[in-house]
Amino acid sequence: MTAKRHAKVVIIGSGPAGYTAGIYAARAMLKPLLIEGITAGGQMTTTTDVENYPGFADVIQGPWLMDQMRAQAAHVGTEIIADHVMEADLKRRPFWLKGDSGTEYTADTLIIATGAKARYLGLPSEERFKGYGVSACATCDGFFYRGKKVIVVGGGNTAVEEAIYLANIAEQVLLVHRRAALRAEKILQERLFANKKIEILWNTELAEVLGTEHPLSVTGAKLRSTLTGEIVEVPVDGIFIAIGHDPQSELFKGQLEMKSSGYIVTAPHSTATNIPGVFAAGDVADDVYRQAVTAAGMGCMAALEAEKYLAKIESVAEAAE
Ligand code: NAP
Repeated sequence: MTAKRHAKVVIIGSGPAGYTAGIYAARAMLKPLLIEGITAGGQMTTTTDVENYPGFADVIQGPWLMDQMRAQAAHVGTEIIADHVMEADLKRRPFWLKGDSGTEYTADTLIIATGAKARYLGLPSEERFKGYGVSACATCDGFFYRGKKVIVVGGGNTAVEEAIYLANIAEQVLLVHRRAALRAEKILQERLFANKKIEILWNTELAEVLGTEHPLSVTGAKLRSTLTGEIVEVPVDGIFIAIGHDPQSELFKGQLEMKSSGYIVTAPHSTATNIPGVFAAGDVADDVYRQAVTAAGMGCMAALEAEKYLAKIESVAEAAE
């Protein structure tokens, strides 16, 4: 028999937006269900040092912060479910979802906090060696490159943080960036420039990943100058792609209004989507700030807006009786 669960508020996603929505909805006595997804804790679990989340004078760790948020959400009454939503029908009322586990969920209001996932360049050779020397997460895979030489591709905060992190492990880090200026925060840039183990290759892009088939492993890279088109080959053991993220909104394509980039559109100063009762918070709806603290703020907004929406439909239902 199919397991069925109903809640006034169902939250999908377990990053700062999802857990914060859980904290607020639970404290409003709405008994929220939070479906965690595959990576409980979201993108913050793939970071190490966090020094810009307010409230902590000392440097804290991303996974620790997410454990705290999870425990806080559970402590105030959020039911946290280990499942991954595979199907969604937002035309039905209540909204209908189906998890990997086979459980069907129905919800009077839905908070989508599914976050974003790492972007890749789209090279066939990159795809070939994914998991065998090509990675998008230094904190997950950096350990394997002790004393080795690695490339990090990108020029944003993620790329710079990953390069600095990898420099603690690897013998040498080459930061490959397509322009002559980084978009990372100045404080991170200063740390990067001061690190003797990191060399920056400006105006350069990754043209091809080189490696062996048996065993499948990376041995080098072809790098192309974005100014002259000249190609050089460098021997490296690992390649970390850090070129940004895409929103995880595929489940709702064709159902919710989205930008061409896939970010869910919300009303100004609100988390309300084009479907009344469906709210979107955090990186899945934010292509501007994309910070843990702004995601948490949006999670709070979504829960408060869901509470208001529920009060409104309940008063309409009472008036009709
Ligand atoms: P990002 O800021 O969007 O930077 C992406 C970088 O990748 C850019 O330098 C971009 O180059 C490059 N890039 C994009 N597509 C490329 C391609 N096809 N080929 C080569 N290079 C490409 O992404 P992010 O660094 O992942 O950061 C995402 C958000 O999270 C940002 O808002 C960031 O501030 C935030 N974040 C914050 C922290 C922190 O506060 N500690 C840490 C990590 C991330 P161009 O510069 O030429 O466009």
